[in-house]
Amino acid sequence: MNNAQASVAITLKHVQKTFADGTVALKPQNLHIEKGEILVLLGPSGCGKTTTLRLIAGLEFCDPGGQILFGDRDVTNIAIEQRRVGMVFQSYALFPNMNVSENIGYGLRVRGESKALRAQKIEEMLALFDLQPYAHRHIDQLSGGQRQRVALARAIVTEPEVLLLDEPLSALDAFLKKRLRTDINALLKRLGITAVYVTHDQEEAMAMGDRIAVLDHGEIVQIGSAQDIYHAPNSAFVANFIGHMNHFSGRLNGRHLHFDQQSMPLPESLWPAVREGVLSDGAPVQCMARPEDIRIIDGAEATLQGRVTQSVFLGDRTRLLVEVAGVADCIYVDCFERRVYQQGETVGLAIPPSRLVMLPMLSDRS
Ligand code: ATP
Repeated sequence: MNNAQASVAITLKHVQKTFADGTVALKPQNLHIEKGEILVLLGPSGCGKTTTLRLIAGLEFCDPGGQILFGDRDVTNIAIEQRRVGMVFQSYALFPNMNVSENIGYGLRVRGESKALRAQKIEEMLALFDLQPYAHRHIDQLSGGQRQRVALARAIVTEPEVLLLDEPLSALDAFLKKRLRTDINALLKRLGITAVYVTHDQEEAMAMGDRIAVLDHGEIVQIGSAQDIYHAPNSAFVANFIGHMNHFSGRLNGRHLHFDQQSMPLPESLWPAVREGVLSDGAPVQCMARPEDIRIIDGAEATLQGRVTQSVFLGDRTRLLVEVAGVADCIYVDCFERRVYQQGETVGLAIPPSRLVMLPMLSDRS
């Protein structure tokens, strides 16, 4: 099976959702998802992920003035039955009174497909999802992972134009989650399916998505590849939502970044930003660095001095908590060398310029 021909791009133009009680679940959004792309919607509870998905599905309709396109087709006011969407939920939503094959073939039967075609498609799905041994089992005789595979098979057997997945793995244990997310990603890519995938699990988002849209209070606050979002967050909110981020505030002064009691040279890469006034001299700046990007360095190359307050061995790394006087009470530093650090030990630190994220001091969303 290849879904690439059925798949379409999705476009949201000025799509907003206000519920009957006045709750604005989604502020006006523009979004384009390429044909065959997997877009992950990531964000805290209540930020509007499910609402966005339900609008794309046709389970909700957007406020007047918004427009949703599947390819060139305007589906804004078209009901779910006419949209050709496949949906997978956390709760599986399988029919308990039907066996695996009957569940998979349900959509085809509703569509009035012939018995022969149904049998052929079901067989394809059973093979694709390694479900042949369970074809005649009832749903309550399956494990969580098997049920989720049936739910996926049932969603894609009808060759939908888009596949919408709402936290499909959150009911599964951590090990199965990791395996299934890799399987699902590979399958969607192989079949060329356009998919929108909702999760609040950052690791799942990075593993699944071609791009990630981070939502906050009904708004997409950043959209990009996992690398973009992780390495170049555009706000403290986004930075904190994916991985751990250290924060410290400084002030620009000439070619130096001054903290309360220490200073470090301003990364050369940021000189143009100062010259062009994007970062103004003397202005306070918000600095961020990931724990794995801060180096522990002896001697003159160290630009900051700190004191180890805690050391936690995590197997592949040791995570140190370091107090850097006048900069931050606690900076997380990941150390990959096989070396033991003592509490109270003084360490020199350096942040490679390319790894320092700096933002003008704005009101913080977090
Ligand atoms: P979660 O991760 O908890 O599922 P979410 O990001 O999917 O959250 P949504 O379900 O999209 O969030 O909800 C967005 C906002 O809209 C929330 O404030 C929610 O309370 C509100 N909301 C959702 N459905 C309705 C409704 N039918 N009527 C009124 N408000 C609603």
